[in-house]
Amino acid sequence: MVTQAILMEAKEPVDTESALERFQEFLATQNLRMTKERRIVVEEVFQEQHHFTVSELLERLRGKDKALGRSTVYRVIPLLLQSGLLFEVSVKGGREEQVYENTLSPRHHNHLTCDLCNAVIEFEDEGLYDLQKAIAGRYGYKLRRHVLHLRGICPKCQEKIIDREVNAW
Ligand SMILES: [Zn+2]
Ligand SMILES: [Zn+2]
Repeated sequence: MVTQAILMEAKEPVDTESALERFQEFLATQNLRMTKERRIVVEEVFQEQHHFTVSELLERLRGKDKALGRSTVYRVIPLLLQSGLLFEVSVKGGREEQVYENTLSPRHHNHLTCDLCNAVIEFEDEGLYDLQKAIAGRYGYKLRRHVLHLRGICPKCQEKIIDREVNAW
């Protein structure tokens, strides 16, 4: 099983060049340039295929001797969000820190988040992907990425709500 997972990841590495190209396209629409600092942040963001926080990103940059100021990183994140290359998954439980994920990751999946406790379920669905592709095609779009975020109340929180209502009697 482990071998299979490694093979699957090796088959589709993150294409940092394509991410940089797309980010550059976006920056041009905002009359902004790809600075050295922006490039470093983008390269690091696309090395991470799973969820991360800004603290974790800063930690990784420090570990690679590419220390950038917190403020620099905080300025690039909104641009990445605006470009659609980055997606806000949720706030990490207990900590008030936003969790991000890049939208070009080969192991891209959809999310189901609890409104009350922020528990996150990740799911993949081939049929859903085909449907999204078909919808894009219907309007003449060529699908480049997709973000689907479903929000609701998880089973545990539903139980707590029922308990509270029962105790209120
Ligand atoms: Zn919950
Ligand atoms: Zn995720």
